[in-house]
Amino acid sequence: MIDKASFKSLEKATKDSFFKQKNLIKQVLAGKHVNCRICHQVIVFEPPKKDKTGVVRCKKGCTDIELDMS
Ligand SMILES: [Zn+2]
Repeated sequence: MIDKASFKSLEKATKDSFFKQKNLIKQVLAGKHVNCRICHQVIVFEPPKKDKTGVVRCKKGCTDIELDMS
């Protein structure tokens, strides 16, 4: 069972990473040069193909965020 304190910190971490992710997507879509925090390769935007969603990802795939374009 998770105690209240650790649950709170977990919640905060999720919020933080959600915010960071949004910010990262914004920057990449604005054409800014952003590097992956893990492998330090440049992160690029791959536009959606057919019925697939667009993704923001680095070469190695450790950053791989699917975009909800709807
Ligand atoms: Zn990476």
